Amino acid sequence: MPKFNLKVVNERLVIDLDKMTEDYSESYGYDGKPSYYDIGELATAASFTEVELTQQQLDKIMAEYENGGECGWCGEIVSELSSPHLFDFAPGEKMCRNCWNHDREAYLGSVGTDIGEFKPRGSK
Ligand SMILES: [Zn+2]
Repeated sequence: MPKFNLKVVNERLVIDLDKMTEDYSESYGYDGKPSYYDIGELATAASFTEVELTQQQLDKIMAEYENGGECGWCGEIVSELSSPHLFDFAPGEKMCRNCWNHDREAYLGSVGTDIGEFKPRGSK
């Protein structure tokens, strides 16, 4: 399993993902949210301990950087997630396209209301 350094930056624990943005200006540092840190700051921060991530956890973190993550309904890790629709609203949860389309058909059939197209977060 891949190992990463858990570092302390500004009194916050950050997983140094050992990866830079494409323009080499920032480092990927996961602090519970997909965040970016100054390269020098993260590189020189003291390592607190090493953490081992499963591929599943790493995939989830990387998907979050792409506006994706884990679907709150089926648990799939996907690159596109939407905020939940109003018929099944759960604060803080995100829904994948499959679950959305499934619900769309279900609510059209049972309630006769169309919840609309799946709209991934971050899309215009
Ligand atoms: Zn889903």
